[in-house]
Amino acid sequence: MHYAPFMARRNSQSTWPEAPLAGAVPPCALCEREVPELVQHHLIPILAGKRRGIKPQDLPTVGLCPACQQYLHSTFSIGELATELNTLEALEQNEQVQKFVKWVRKQPATKGVKAKGRE
Ligand SMILES: [Zn+2]
Repeated sequence: MHYAPFMARRNSQSTWPEAPLAGAVPPCALCEREVPELVQHHLIPILAGKRRGIKPQDLPTVGLCPACQQYLHSTFSIGELATELNTLEALEQNEQVQKFVKWVRKQPATKGVKAKGRE
């Protein structure tokens, strides 16, 4: 099951949709791993939003694990993220992302995973 993109404020996690487990962090929207902490990925990068006159707090975000978020930003340009990969569905359908998700799902969720320079 996937979470639809939703508006969330950086400083308030209490407005998130219901988590599957009480008190638990919802799973990463991409790899669905349950990690200790999610990061808010801006589906439209902050820089791209600025160019369009959108404030960072008005940009749609999605809760991702740090590994997925890092992967997206190290793999795609701001332009690509802003135009082609600006929805969760588009990310899920991207072949490169699919490959990464397949790989990262096998990685322990509690350990920090580096998308780049993995050993
Ligand atoms: Zn993830």
